[in-house]
Amino acid sequence: MATQIFMALGMNQTLGMASTGEGLQVLSPRHLRYHETWISGGNGMHFLVTGGAGYIGSHTVRALLQQGHSTTVLDDFSTGHRWATQGQAVIEVDLKDLGALRTALAGTTFDGVFHFAAKSLVAESNREPQLYYQNNVDGTAHLLTVALENGWNRCVLSSTAAVYGNPITDTLGEAHPKNPISVYGQTKLAMEHLLERTCADHPFSAVCLRYFNAAGAASDASLGEAHDPETHLIPTALKAAAGTGKPLTIFGDDYPTADGTCIRDYIHVEDLANAHLHAMNYLADHQGFIACNLGNGVGFSVKAVLAACEQAVGATIDYSIGARRKGDPATLVADATRAKDVLDWQPTHTTIEAIVASAWVWERTWEIHEDRRG
Ligand code: UDP
Repeated sequence: MATQIFMALGMNQTLGMASTGEGLQVLSPRHLRYHETWISGGNGMHFLVTGGAGYIGSHTVRALLQQGHSTTVLDDFSTGHRWATQGQAVIEVDLKDLGALRTALAGTTFDGVFHFAAKSLVAESNREPQLYYQNNVDGTAHLLTVALENGWNRCVLSSTAAVYGNPITDTLGEAHPKNPISVYGQTKLAMEHLLERTCADHPFSAVCLRYFNAAGAASDASLGEAHDPETHLIPTALKAAAGTGKPLTIFGDDYPTADGTCIRDYIHVEDLANAHLHAMNYLADHQGFIACNLGNGVGFSVKAVLAACEQAVGATIDYSIGARRKGDPATLVADATRAKDVLDWQPTHTTIEAIVASAWVWERTWEIHEDRRG
């Protein structure tokens, strides 16, 4: 019933223009409902998903498939997994290689591009800045070159709260100053700038999604986090509990927070994936460039996350206190009001216990999945 109402509004009406990432016009609820039809109407669209073999990319592929769409996954498999591509068409190419990218994508058309492919580890980025600039910034420049050559005109970019640096407010809105303190954050900000400039100069539109801390696994445990090496807090703690990983070290307990450990805003990977579909919907009837934060808006300290992990596991998890990790702000908590208002998105996994519980099911079934994958 609702869909019929949305369809009656028409498919090519332009309802609003957002020219920058910061000065966004907030649209009325009627307009927000309108753009739900485009991608949620089950009309079998085809999307390019760079980094679709990775953690958040593969969950987004899955969300698109659940809506009746299909994808082409572009990945260099440096960190992604073939099992995560879910039977979709795969292009194996390195975004750093413009010639190979041009050849692989010549003459292709897509209803939109989801751009996840990037290096994403803070500590690694500070050790290997050249690798991060080449992979993330050059790779995005190459992708956009090929996009313009082929006449593609919509992109949803995977970005990060790391673009903000040390917060000067309790929660971070999109207008917060951007002073990244890691090379990773710098490269993501450069990717955003490049995309914004492309939108200003060409008939091209983009939504840039700044994730806070992606966590959890698919509700049926068919997809989840599988990094090698694993560096993120929740899988590291759960692997330590399961005896399948290294012991847990808490990176610093002398931060200016209640228990001295860093506070982060953990957001379930399925909620992140869903936000990408909402963002692509938004681009059906909006031009220009906007950036939106994605988080639950609630922060948890490392020790609070550890307590949630212990609850999921049903046992205590040993840890030691180590030095601070370079590039870690004390607190990062999202103000995700814009994503809710403008993209009509709502997170559904809103407790840290639910997020950690899904990750624990994934960790426990990992060996079974590995066998299945051969
Ligand atoms: N962390 C930690 N020990 C670990 C991994 C992470 O104490 O083994 C801390 C890290 O310093 C940060 C928080 O947990 O404060 C989340 O880190 P993670 O690497 O999961 O995500 P990030 O915030 O880097 O995106």
